[in-house]
Amino acid sequence: MRESSLVVVANRLPIDDSVAPDGACEWRRTPGGLVSALHPLLRHTPATWVGWAGGTGPAPDLPDVDGVRMRSVPLTGDDLRDHYEGFANATLWPIYHDAVEQPEHHRRWWDAYQRVNQRFAEATAQVAEAGAVVWVQDYHLQLVPGLLRDLRPDLRIGFFLHVPFPPPELFMQLPRRAELLRGMLGADLVGFQRAQAAHNFAQLVTKVLGLPATDRRIAVDDDRIVRIGAFPVSIDSAEMSALAARADVVERARRLRHDLGGPDQVILSVDRMDYTKGIEQRLKAYSELLEGGHVKVRDTVLVQVAVPSRERVGQYQILRDRVEREVGRINGEFGRVGEPAIHYLTQPFDRAELAALYRVADVMAVTPLRDGMNLVAKEYVAARVDDDGALLLSEFAGAAAELPQAYLVNPHDLEGLKQGLLAALRAEPADVRARMRAMREQLREHDIHAWARSYLSALDQGGSLLTRLGG
Ligand code: UDP
Repeated sequence: MRESSLVVVANRLPIDDSVAPDGACEWRRTPGGLVSALHPLLRHTPATWVGWAGGTGPAPDLPDVDGVRMRSVPLTGDDLRDHYEGFANATLWPIYHDAVEQPEHHRRWWDAYQRVNQRFAEATAQVAEAGAVVWVQDYHLQLVPGLLRDLRPDLRIGFFLHVPFPPPELFMQLPRRAELLRGMLGADLVGFQRAQAAHNFAQLVTKVLGLPATDRRIAVDDDRIVRIGAFPVSIDSAEMSALAARADVVERARRLRHDLGGPDQVILSVDRMDYTKGIEQRLKAYSELLEGGHVKVRDTVLVQVAVPSRERVGQYQILRDRVEREVGRINGEFGRVGEPAIHYLTQPFDRAELAALYRVADVMAVTPLRDGMNLVAKEYVAARVDDDGALLLSEFAGAAAELPQAYLVNPHDLEGLKQGLLAALRAEPADVRARMRAMREQLREHDIHAWARSYLSALDQGGSLLTRLGG
């Protein structure tokens, strides 16, 4: 039934895999930035979310969640293997992240990518009312804007890419590069995390499709103008700050420090287990600092949270094995009874536990080799309501463009990474606080609500959508 004036289209529905016996669904928070990013907005917004509900087989009928309609798209086991694990996460993901792992190309994966994108476009066309605003998310669904425009030229279509968009040299490797670009150009507005990504895209549409393009506008064949630009995604910083200030979270943080053996300094990293996150480089830097006697296990501990993901993709299995071997080696070599060098945790943490961890961390080490944004870095800043704590941040995380006061490092440079970690550990308290205050100020103004407002008002161009959403 065509009934929604705002439709969000994303690979996953933002709900738990299991529906409770009374039919109620819970919002789902996974270690993936998208749900964390959109949840606060949609909670207050009448909308339909189109996505996969988890599991294979027919699409379940789902109840509304917090007033948002859920429209599930069915996926088969073959779709999952070839679209999600294959084309999305073993072809596009590595190409979009500097090819730090070798991308794979299979024609069967491309067929599945087209088929699944078509199914998402059809489901969206069915629920969007005439003239509705549709917001398509991320690299799993790059063909949806074009397919949807063919089905429903009346819609206003936005596309936002949460991951980096690579330079032409890398994108040109994709056998179906022209189709992927054309798919994105079905949108009225294509949003990226950083201005450099919009620039890369403009260069590519000229090079591959011969279209005249600037870093803001592209003229396409059917006399349309597609606008492009940077809209760095953010977090609900007020919510994280309030959580981190809660008495039980403060108490939990105190308890955690005690349980960690009361060290002088705690270094924390929180990542999805992914080869883009630079986990191995960080472990190596830490190990060399221990070996060189610059850091002592008795005074300093490293807490590494690494939540497994995409476990059926071979590269992820190999990575997990390598990381676990290295953690075991470092603990064996440098730990003492009751005093491990690294506290290594793979279970996902809930928001309150994460907030407590952030408050314990004297140094938060966020050192991806490439990352679209990195919400964890922003969550850490939002959680430091005491204006304390040093953020060690990779230049190659999108967040670095907005948080230049962090201790910035190049994670490919092992010596630089070691020096950066030491600088953050040994920084003057006054310097740490001045930097943290500046970052908190930036984040207060540029939160998730500002992100959604700026993207949707650019997409809606003078329309009444934001007024209707109470924005
Ligand atoms: N996260 C979580 N529990 C965990 C680890 C991570 O809820 O145990 C959340 C984290 O708070 C953040 C998101 O997962 O909101 C990770 O987003 P990020 O942009 O840092 O990385 P991504 O996983 O999207 O690459």
